[in-house]
Amino acid sequence: MTTWYNGIIKKIEDASPTTKRFWLEVEGVDRFDFKAGQFITMDLPIGERRNQRWRSYSIASAPDGSNTLELCIVHLDGGLATNWLFNEATIGTAIKFKGPDGTFTLPESIENELVMVCTGTGVAPFRSMIWEVFNQKIPHKGIHLIFGTRTADGILYQKEFEELAQKMPGFRFSVALSREEQEGCHHGYVHGIYQTAYAEKRPDRSFYLCGWTKMVDEAVAKLIVEMGYERGQVKYELYG
Ligand SMILES: Cc1cc2nc3c(=O)[nH]c(=O)nc-3n(C[C@H](O)[C@H](O)[C@H](O)COP(=O)(O)OP(=O)(O)OC[C@H]3O[C@@H](n4cnc5c(N)ncnc54)[C@H](O)[C@@H]3O)c2cc1C
Repeated sequence: MTTWYNGIIKKIEDASPTTKRFWLEVEGVDRFDFKAGQFITMDLPIGERRNQRWRSYSIASAPDGSNTLELCIVHLDGGLATNWLFNEATIGTAIKFKGPDGTFTLPESIENELVMVCTGTGVAPFRSMIWEVFNQKIPHKGIHLIFGTRTADGILYQKEFEELAQKMPGFRFSVALSREEQEGCHHGYVHGIYQTAYAEKRPDRSFYLCGWTKMVDEAVAKLIVEMGYERGQVKYELYG
């Protein structure tokens, strides 16, 4: 049986000119358990039918035994849910949701090097996973987060990941900017970074991809067809 919860918006912060961080406190529970990488599905007051109203969002925070979740959501022009979330929802608004769901999570035991590739808010599940590895001191074989966006003002959690790269052995953070050149960032798409860094195929490496269809489809094709990685080495979460 599906359990529905009420999440009360406790805080909203800008993460970029088009993206906001939302903190939801789950009513009626002391803790909300989930696996890093999972998502929740909200039932929003934006339509009559269920399939018009439901939208899924990855949990961007790591499991911490509390009843508060962070979401990272980009506003889409004309998007029904994001128009409502950005223009109608405010501190104190209650949002009905179900979850957690999803299998886009860390392996039971991390035996492979993990290359996490995302654009925009596709970073959300990776942020949860990376903090989970750090907080729980989970042994790993190296984690490389490759984040893509158009311009530097779209880089999400930049300071946080840069600081983490200093204190978390084996964690690397790379940024690709497709429409702007900036020192320290790759100029172009995310694909250019992993195509160069991981051209030499290895069986002990896994790629995790998250974001919108175009980037994910391109990455799957490049990794499997062009670069020769096995299907089982590539795992992805599609946002739409
Ligand atoms: C498992 C899962 C997890 C998700 N997690 C997140 C998350 O953490 N953060 C987040 O921001 N979104 C996330 N999404 C996407 C989210 O569920 C909504 O689809 C999104 O917010 C758009 O809803 P909307 O009602 O505003 O737009 P809609 O009214 O549904 O219209 C959006 C339309 O634009 C297209 N489109 C949408 N976005 C883009 C884009 N960036 N680029 C190109 N085309 C686009 C869609 O295909 C669709 O046709 C997730 C989706 C899934 C399935």
